[in-house]
Amino acid sequence: MLSKKLIDEINEQIKYEFFSAHLYLSMASFAANNDLPGFENWFIVQADEERFHAMKFYHFLNSRAEKAVLKGFDDPKENYDDIIDAFAYSLEHEKFVSSRIYHLMDIAQEEKEYATISLLNWFVDEQVEEEDNFGRILSQLKKISGNEDGLFRLDRELATRVFVPPVTP
Ligand code: MG
Repeated sequence: MLSKKLIDEINEQIKYEFFSAHLYLSMASFAANNDLPGFENWFIVQADEERFHAMKFYHFLNSRAEKAVLKGFDDPKENYDDIIDAFAYSLEHEKFVSSRIYHLMDIAQEEKEYATISLLNWFVDEQVEEEDNFGRILSQLKKISGNEDGLFRLDRELATRVFVPPVTP
């Protein structure tokens, strides 16, 4: 049986994952509005991934005979100076999400809740990948800053991203 503290924190995490989906969809819309359809596609796929993360926690709670609770959240940030600004904001957001996963792991380890620890191990690895993805694109954007040709080439590359549900243990 999961503790109330852990259930509450996992429900809080479901909220953050759905919020992330909302945030990245707002960035997709920002990209579309700035004639960057490849970036729009990339963020839409990222939003799909975030919904997958939320549902992973949702199914975990329900499979442990607990109840996933859906919470609301504030509007995501809507406007950015440019696409670099959007990626810098995203990277900071992913670092925050990583700190949330570590916080959950601290509680699960304190309570010796091994099933939750196993679930969270997947998320620890996933966050390494997320920070790497956002960080790499941010760094590429900085390198091609002011070079429209480079920006449109990167846009075409990001247009190829498709959502593939991650293989889960
Ligand atoms: Mg996530």
